[in-house]
Amino acid sequence: MKLTVLGASGTYPRPGGACSGYLVRQGSTVLVMDLGNGCLSRLQEVADITRLGGVVVSHLHVDHFGDIYPLYYALRFHPERPWGLRLLLPPGGQELLGSLLGEEGRRYLGKVFSFQELREGEEYRFGSVAVRAFPARHPVSGFCLRLQAGGRTLAYSGDTAPCPGVWEAAREADLFLCEATLPGEYEEQAAHGHLTAPQAGRLAAEAGARRLIITHVWPTFEVDALLREARWAFGGETLAAREGEEYEV
Ligand SMILES: [Zn+2]
Ligand SMILES: [Zn+2]
Repeated sequence: MKLTVLGASGTYPRPGGACSGYLVRQGSTVLVMDLGNGCLSRLQEVADITRLGGVVVSHLHVDHFGDIYPLYYALRFHPERPWGLRLLLPPGGQELLGSLLGEEGRRYLGKVFSFQELREGEEYRFGSVAVRAFPARHPVSGFCLRLQAGGRTLAYSGDTAPCPGVWEAAREADLFLCEATLPGEYEEQAAHGHLTAPQAGRLAAEAGARRLIITHVWPTFEVDALLREARWAFGGETLAAREGEEYEV
């Protein structure tokens, strides 16, 4: 599997950047995890949006699904009508997306996308990639994702505070893409639903992950400073997600 970072900012984008979005490729299977604001532009630079196998949204915060709207318009008005793209969302996702559209827009929403609700414990298959969802601890219903293909495992925390779900998702993963929203000194503020960089590092170590990539750093903080904190706590190979970069799982 190969992971390409479309956007890595937490909550709102850094100057010139985008919020959470990740492309996963395994053979001919192309999958998107989250599509936050700013991601669609970069997605089109690296993939053909008419040939996506599916989009999985970890939770219904705008920094993780905002560019589903422009993706909807890009597909709806595409001359070849490449409709029926699988879109997996937490329960209530289709209604939430539809609430910002008019009646006609809502009608096309269910044609452009083939909606599926993400549920704990289910396995979803996209070609040779199997995706499982584990409950996150966040102010809205959300999931941590575990992708397996070709004997390799990619884990993605989504947005979460420490919880059994994220540990389960990351267990012995070859690559753990983990949010590190805040520096270590903000542990109390993070407790409502995020991880600090040292928490991300400790979690990766405890779960037995082989490599760690931190992401979702708030734009008010220096990524490299949080990377040092996460690396220290993990003790293994630790990188920071860089937009446009591709990583081998
Ligand atoms: Zn977020
Ligand atoms: Zn969130």
